[in-house]
Amino acid sequence: MVKTETKNNVIIITKNDGNSVIDLNLKDKVYLMIDLNNITNLKKLIKKIRKNTKDYEKEKFALLIKSNGDKEFENDVISCINAALCKNRKERIEYIYDTVCSYLDEEFRKNNYCDFKNDVCKAKRNCKEVVKMGCCHKVKNLLKGKLVECPLLKNKTCSTSCITCKLFTCDAIDRKFKLKDIPLINIYFDPIQKFIIKTSFFATRETIINRLLHW
Ligand code: SF4
Ligand code: SF4
Repeated sequence: MVKTETKNNVIIITKNDGNSVIDLNLKDKVYLMIDLNNITNLKKLIKKIRKNTKDYEKEKFALLIKSNGDKEFENDVISCINAALCKNRKERIEYIYDTVCSYLDEEFRKNNYCDFKNDVCKAKRNCKEVVKMGCCHKVKNLLKGKLVECPLLKNKTCSTSCITCKLFTCDAIDRKFKLKDIPLINIYFDPIQKFIIKTSFFATRETIINRLLHW
């Protein structure tokens, strides 16, 4: 018995009888078929997927994507669906946080935005005084404007994963990361969570995730 439900561009098949046209020999799987060409409103689609999948275990799903050739959009859709399939709020927030951080790390790595040479980034290269380790500095004394290296910087590397710092680019870099352009954040986070993401500089991953969970 194959039960097929079609809701807009989402088809959910709850049982595979071996004769189905999408038989991939994955017994007892729930197939989520998404045609990227038909998506006009990703937020609405995700809302429908969350509603239609809430009674199933995440492990039950197999995702079938008909691509439109736009790899970035495909990745956005897949990550938004993965977030929809998370079992609870904590798992979902952690998934979103880590996925966005990985995306930002990869963007900085492949584009070499900060262009560090001998620990000096491109924005600080023309400063009179040599400033190492880019913008990983905090104000120590507000009155004297004294800056010190962020305590989370260990062995010249950030010891945590601070999404707010990762989203920041100074005036020397043209590329700006806006929350509205990152579907995982734009779709899943409310205005207060977005404010937390924007303002939690110099904070650990755990601190920011806690704030997102219990604001
Ligand atoms: S964002 Fe700007 S100041 Fe910060 S490390 Fe990169 S180039 Fe340097
Ligand atoms: S938390 Fe931010 S400022 Fe501190 S080390 Fe990490 S990236 Fe640098």
